[in-house]
Amino acid sequence: MSHRHSHDVIVVGAGASGLAAASSLHAAGLDTVCLEARARVGGRMLSVATSYPGRALDLGATWFWDGEERIRTLAARSGIATFDQHLAGDTLLQETTGTRRLTGNLLDAPSHRFTSGSQSVATALAGTLPAESLLLNTPVTAIRQVSQHRLTVLTPAGPSHARHVILAIPPALALERIDFHDALPADLVRLARSTPVWMGTVTKVVAHYPAVFWRERGLAGAVFSRTGPLQEIHDMSGPDGRPAALLGFAHARAVRPGFDKAVTGQLARLFGPAAPAPDVLHVQDWSTERWTAPPTVHRLTDYSLLGHALYQRPALDGRLHWASTETATENAGHIEGALAAGERAARSVLASAGLLNGVTTTRR
Ligand SMILES: Cc1cc2nc3c(=O)[nH]c(=O)nc-3n(C[C@H](O)[C@H](O)[C@H](O)COP(=O)(O)OP(=O)(O)OC[C@H]3O[C@@H](n4cnc5c(N)ncnc54)[C@H](O)[C@@H]3O)c2cc1C
Repeated sequence: MSHRHSHDVIVVGAGASGLAAASSLHAAGLDTVCLEARARVGGRMLSVATSYPGRALDLGATWFWDGEERIRTLAARSGIATFDQHLAGDTLLQETTGTRRLTGNLLDAPSHRFTSGSQSVATALAGTLPAESLLLNTPVTAIRQVSQHRLTVLTPAGPSHARHVILAIPPALALERIDFHDALPADLVRLARSTPVWMGTVTKVVAHYPAVFWRERGLAGAVFSRTGPLQEIHDMSGPDGRPAALLGFAHARAVRPGFDKAVTGQLARLFGPAAPAPDVLHVQDWSTERWTAPPTVHRLTDYSLLGHALYQRPALDGRLHWASTETATENAGHIEGALAAGERAARSVLASAGLLNGVTTTRR
């Protein structure tokens, strides 16, 4: 824990949303500290290095789309190279009766990727903060209002105090992991407990191959499957096909003993016995991640709650502000929504501090 225990603002969570908020507030001159439960930044932006220098594979967020200006600008400003998602080739449709080849790519929309992986965006944002303003391995366990002007935030390292707290974690997770001492209004508690965690029930599989063998056969690497375990497959290769990789999404409930073998069996059935076995198979089950998904995650299905009006205004006498992609009114669920929500929370703090003109944003 930082040697100072009193701050203008404490941001809970160092995903895209929390880091965007902390970065804006720090730039505006507020004493801001960002507390992160995990030993890394990025949250649902998680990338693994490959043998190609500077090229990573994403186990969480992968793409951004045209019109998502915050993330596009942030990547450009941070010097993070981007490239277009590979689209060319035919689609495979896998059914119980066999696999059919459909002309053209019927699965992927035009989108863009980060050469160094999406987590590098979070690392770049974290780099805008002084080292003492970002504390890893520091889970927030309780938040208490001690006066009209102050909140106390508890972590295993002890209490800290702030004039404002930004909750940049999925609302349902906040209610599960943080004790608010029954101080939140009942309608807000009900809403937060019911709000889905975006992609929180998904298992992402990344199969790293020696070469993009499917492209050589005129295939896009795009697959719809009615048999599973992977329900959708996409080309996840780097620029020019290096590294060569396919990504698949499975429902987390499909992950049981023998899952890896079922996946490699499915890939072999799809691409034929001549297809090479993957060099590495990464399996990332987000539903069992303590700092992403609450145990109720599978029951949270009302996506109309994303960006709800109650998240747009602070609670606890204007001291507790919501961020996280789930609270965004536009592009909710995406990295873009996470950045927008972080900016909105930062603006809300600055407005309350009478400093609104000082905010910097990731929008052009
Ligand atoms: C498999 C998958 C694929 C995706 N694909 C895409 C995509 O292609 N494009 C796209 O735009 N989006 C995608 N997303 C969504 C995208 O990852 C999220 O919208 C975005 O990363 C959310 O950022 P956030 O800051 O709101 O939340 P998070 O990234 O969840 O960050 C919250 C942070 O808070 C920390 N935390 C949690 N509890 C506490 C606590 N009590 N105390 C302190 N810290 C805490 C967590 O460790 C985490 O670092 C995908 C997500 C997944 C899981």
